[in-house]
Amino acid sequence: MSRYIGPVCRLCRREGIKLMLKGPRCETAKCPMEKQWRSNPPGMHAWRRGKSSGYSIRLREKQKVKRYYGILEQGFRLYFRRAERSKENTGLALLRLLECRLDNVVCKGGLAPSRKAARVMIRHGHIHVNGRRVDRPGYSVSQGDRIAVKNAEKSRKLAKAHVELAGSLQPQSWLQVDAEKMEVTVVAMPSREDVQIPVEEQLIVEMCSR
Ligand code: SF4
Repeated sequence: MSRYIGPVCRLCRREGIKLMLKGPRCETAKCPMEKQWRSNPPGMHAWRRGKSSGYSIRLREKQKVKRYYGILEQGFRLYFRRAERSKENTGLALLRLLECRLDNVVCKGGLAPSRKAARVMIRHGHIHVNGRRVDRPGYSVSQGDRIAVKNAEKSRKLAKAHVELAGSLQPQSWLQVDAEKMEVTVVAMPSREDVQIPVEEQLIVEMCSR
């Protein structure tokens, strides 16, 4: 599936929040969002933009989520249709589906410093789910799944470098991390509180249901 390959910091500047797309660099003073003179929206005439309309507020919420999880419009629409078919609240179901993407789990489990790095690891076959190689970053994990780094020197070396780069493995209530084995187990499905990005999912539902 296609992906965005342009500059990523401008995405954060456009949304006005830190989307943490560059891993550890996002925590440093090099992040443009830390500098007042660079944290404004991108574009020459950004300062001219007037009051936000109802449509633009809803659009920004949708774009924020798409950019945070690194998916494009077509993929997002497919997730939304799946969420609509679910029996639970559509907004919550949508966030849960996105949170359960394999690249997100690899990143949140600390095996990769960012979703982008996680996607590369998955694509290159360094990640196994329940002992089998999975090379789709959008693979949806389920409760009880074990996500591990391939038992090969190259893969483990790469994951170790990532773990060191990321600092320490991030604790998540729905993920159990075994740093020694470089393994992440999904012990529960993510709840609304586990979604770290500040977003009003109801606005996305209002926009996409039209
Ligand atoms: Fe966003 Fe990270 Fe760039 Fe900061 S460094 S603007 S958080 S991608």
